[in-house]
Amino acid sequence: MNNFDFYNPTRILFGENRTASIDEHIPGDARVMVLYGGESARRTGTLDEVRQALGDRTAVEFGGIEANPKFETLMRAVETARAEHVDFLLAVGGGSVIDGTKFVAAAIPFEGDPWSILTEHGANVHSAMPFGTVLTLPATGSEMNHGAVVTRAELHAKLAFMSPHVFPQFSVLDPTKTYTLPQRQLSNGVADAFVHIMEQYLTRPAGAMVQDRFAEGLLQTLVELAPQVNEGENDYAVRANFMWTTTWALNGMIGAGVPQDWATHMIGHELTALYDIDHARTLAIVLPSLLREQRTVKAEKLLQYAERVWHITEGDDEARIDEAIAKTEAFFEGLGLSTHLGAYDLGEEAIDAVVEQLEAHGMTSLGEQQDITPAVSRRILQRSLKA
Ligand code: NAP
Ligand code: FE
Repeated sequence: MNNFDFYNPTRILFGENRTASIDEHIPGDARVMVLYGGESARRTGTLDEVRQALGDRTAVEFGGIEANPKFETLMRAVETARAEHVDFLLAVGGGSVIDGTKFVAAAIPFEGDPWSILTEHGANVHSAMPFGTVLTLPATGSEMNHGAVVTRAELHAKLAFMSPHVFPQFSVLDPTKTYTLPQRQLSNGVADAFVHIMEQYLTRPAGAMVQDRFAEGLLQTLVELAPQVNEGENDYAVRANFMWTTTWALNGMIGAGVPQDWATHMIGHELTALYDIDHARTLAIVLPSLLREQRTVKAEKLLQYAERVWHITEGDDEARIDEAIAKTEAFFEGLGLSTHLGAYDLGEEAIDAVVEQLEAHGMTSLGEQQDITPAVSRRILQRSLKA
């Protein structure tokens, strides 16, 4: 196990009707900016609940944060927050709104060009405005971590930053908020969380027993819940377990002291920036092919994954690895997420474009052992071309 710091200061307010509790965790005299996405927060009544919970506090609303939040939109929020002398932010939405709010929180006090927060991946962030979240879409884990991803449309760049200053102070996790989600977002959520776990688990060298067992438990929970979540029926127990799993998939615990991969996410970000494919859908395209490309170096962990997550015990090593990767692929396809570029009408020219962007963004030594060079990324994408 590698040395690690484990730090997670986010308070979780879990359960039905917990939005009212935000009142206890925001200073009574705060000037609050409420950030949200398109229409869902208003349509579902969550925005009204938030307004009510804020009581007499001054609240400035900033809507219109799009999926894969754009730097350009977020900079308008920064200007509004500064002009209105806001001192607390509240994100109401999914990963896009929460990530966007993290960027706004870091950019408000930032001196210099805020785009450098992304190009420096957060190393230059020394403070941020305090904020909380009301989560409406279980998927990203952003509600309990210190990472965010922001897109700059004009540059086709989707870059991540991390900073200990952008942990939410609190996050409301009300499973009933998921009842209004379309099936596409539910299945995306299952896949995103699954891949978050895999990026921290299916790595080498192995040896972190606690983190592995937690990761395997979370993966098994997703496999077990996926059919019910995907079916779209509003079952509280299912949604509560689903929501909590997605949070744990990326809150630092299973990643503490273990080598982490993240190549699937980095390649996926380029696919979203270039072709506007949903985040989770890009991951379903990349992960099975990455596992095939790296099956020899990741063999030990693939065999552990085969046995403990999929209960594959028959056949020789190669056959069990084949089966585990095939099960992974079938899992995504079963959710309705295609694992091939061809399903998005993308071919060789897209691979050239993605590899070019990876190089432009310095993503030239990806993976837990930094051995996923642009040539390897190209091979991974070539494996994903067609079914
Ligand atoms: P999202 O982009 O936040 O939301 C997708 C859509 O779901 C939006 O159109 C939104 O509609 C709708 N929606 C949200 N809650 C709803 C509800 N309760 N009922 C009905 N519709 C609802 O999706 P996401 O998957 O959570 O976030 C994806 C982003 O997070 C990507 O940019 C990805 O790169 C990033 N990400 C971040 C991390 C991290 O650790 N920080 C990890 C993985 C991914 P409205 O716009 O109308 O509200
Ligand atoms: Fe993700």
